[in-house]
Amino acid sequence: MKIAVAKGDGIGPEIMDAVLSIFNANNVPLEYEIVEMGKWVFDKGFNNGMTPEAKQTIENLGLLYKGPMETPKGKGVKSINVTARKTWNTYANKRDFQTLHGVDTVFSKAGIPINITVVRENIEDTYGGIEHMLTHDVALSRRFITRPGSMQVIRYAFEMARQKNAKRITCGHKANIMKITDGLFLECFYEVAKEYPDLKADDIIVDDLCMKLVTRPDNFDVVVLTNLQGDIVSDLCAGLVGGLGFAPSANIGDHISIFEAVHGTAPDIAGKNIANPTALLLSGLAMLRHVGLTENAAIIENALLYTLENGVHTGDFGDKSTPAVNTTQFAEAIISNF
Ligand code: NAD
Repeated sequence: MKIAVAKGDGIGPEIMDAVLSIFNANNVPLEYEIVEMGKWVFDKGFNNGMTPEAKQTIENLGLLYKGPMETPKGKGVKSINVTARKTWNTYANKRDFQTLHGVDTVFSKAGIPINITVVRENIEDTYGGIEHMLTHDVALSRRFITRPGSMQVIRYAFEMARQKNAKRITCGHKANIMKITDGLFLECFYEVAKEYPDLKADDIIVDDLCMKLVTRPDNFDVVVLTNLQGDIVSDLCAGLVGGLGFAPSANIGDHISIFEAVHGTAPDIAGKNIANPTALLLSGLAMLRHVGLTENAAIIENALLYTLENGVHTGDFGDKSTPAVNTTQFAEAIISNF
């Protein structure tokens, strides 16, 4: 099977090369077609950040494994990431956050295990970029929430909760204030909930959700939210399990899916071979499972967990009294633990 790979900008090529070296060492039966996509392609004059050939290849193959991409600065310039999600209607953004042994956090030290999946609506909301200045002093942004869009992502979240054997699925929202937009999303949530009587469905105001996540994250299982709120809550969840270096993400569509890390291009450490490739690797493992390569995913995951448990770490986490390894050495350590 062939998939499209875009290495991205900043730390993207370093962490992608590290992860592909792990896949190759495990003989993962995938072929990779490297496509031209990212800020550097934008700079070559392609204003959606990808060449027509790259777009065609991704559409033919249906699966994109993607490094982080820089959003070009300036008015009127759209994020390459948001454009990709919209172009291919990847309506659900699934982000898994779990305790990893060897990655110390206040919760792991307190013996509180975390296993939260955030499903974020990925296309609608204020991310449409429909905003303008009304007057010199007043800016206006429009927020779109639709019934079909909400039903689609909420149904995906319920299906995923069932697959995960989750006990609880929670809708985070602000329907007490944004009664029409968030109200519609919440209405859709309870409409879909009727089809899943085996799951405990409840809802919570998003600010209360944030407070409860940082006090008792183990009470949450699957959380579904609108786009902007989901974006913020998922970074909060990344912090609970050790930071952005451990936050994988899958953008799921009916025809094309994109697997990538939650973090960005980390320009402050790019080109130094010191970035943590774990989030991209965890996204890659979700991708392997998505295409049925569960055995490869399990072997690599075990090797990753064993590596972390043994205290091997890049500079962004772990025991500061032991020396950090670089990106390549981290990948080699995982390979040595197959
Ligand atoms: P960032 O995630 O790139 O970096 C935030 C901080 O986390 C930095 O200190 C960075 O060094 C650190 N960090 C991130 N990933 C790391 C890793 N794998 N290992 C070690 N440390 C890591 O966020 P930012 O600085 O706000 O954004 C930089 C660029 O990335 C922007 O152009 C932004 O638009 C883009 N971005 C892209 C994506 C994506 O492609 N999906 C996501 C977020 C941001």
